[in-house]
Amino acid sequence: MKLLDIKNLRVYYFSEEGVVKAVDGVSLSLNKGETLGVVGESGCGKSTLGLSVLRLVPYPGKMVSGKIFYNGIDLLSLSDEEVRKLRGKEIAMIFQNPDVSLNPIMNIKEHLVEAILTHEEIDEREAVEKTEEILGKVGIPKNRINDYPHQFSGGMKQRIMIALALLLNPKLIIADEPTSSLDVLIQAKTLELLRNLKEEYGLSLILITHDFGVVFEESDRIAVMYAGHIIEIAKNTELYDKPLHPYTQALIKAVPTVTPEEQKLNYILGMPPSLLTPPKGCRFYARCKYAREICKFKEPKTATVGREHIVKCHLY
Ligand code: SF4
Repeated sequence: MKLLDIKNLRVYYFSEEGVVKAVDGVSLSLNKGETLGVVGESGCGKSTLGLSVLRLVPYPGKMVSGKIFYNGIDLLSLSDEEVRKLRGKEIAMIFQNPDVSLNPIMNIKEHLVEAILTHEEIDEREAVEKTEEILGKVGIPKNRINDYPHQFSGGMKQRIMIALALLLNPKLIIADEPTSSLDVLIQAKTLELLRNLKEEYGLSLILITHDFGVVFEESDRIAVMYAGHIIEIAKNTELYDKPLHPYTQALIKAVPTVTPEEQKLNYILGMPPSLLTPPKGCRFYARCKYAREICKFKEPKTATVGREHIVKCHLY
């Protein structure tokens, strides 16, 4: 059953240089209890897509068209007040950089208690108890509750961000690059924690990352984003074993391996197009080894191959 359904969403930034088409006609859905990975290079629009669901696209960005349904509710038709009530309680976000998200002059108790008291009609003592409980779930000892962000390691700060997201028992969490600033060991522990909490709380998860290895390990389905478009969606194993889009094929080939035969580092030649002046045809045209004449002038439509493998390419 669908929890989130995004239809033909367009989110543009109206900058002085021109209109940046960060999300340009994106459709995708998330089933209840599912983890959907959204993967792509930096600047492809994946963070803007995540922010759109919470209606947090920063100025000068604007959602210019499309629909976002959450549990059947049309999010774009809600008032600001209605969306504010939904944030945290229904949908929460784990932001990519705890150092930016946590206020350095507030201790952890203040961060969490304030968030609870803003949304729930309980007294401060109960809010502190709830804070201690949730910190315990993410492995932060009670006696650290009065500490300030700078007194925690990077991994601990990211766990505090997870606690903040879980605080009001949301049904959907959007995690935007939750491990990109962590070293490999801490990254693995953080992902394991997120996986366990997802099970315990019965959450649905959108995991946004540039790291194909992370998205493959953690997701049920994967959506690949390129230059403001979703260019392929499939179950994780199907996408890895039978990638259809030339960009996905190149992305998978670029994942570093440690086998002696595969010591050469593969990378994708060229750069993504500017989203200020995206090409008229396929946005991967300039980098694609299978490009044909039609690809230069005509944007490919989205095709469904098999039961639920979606691809946006003239080859299909
Ligand atoms: Fe390559 Fe053409 Fe497919 Fe684009 S539409 S990925 S250029 S084959």
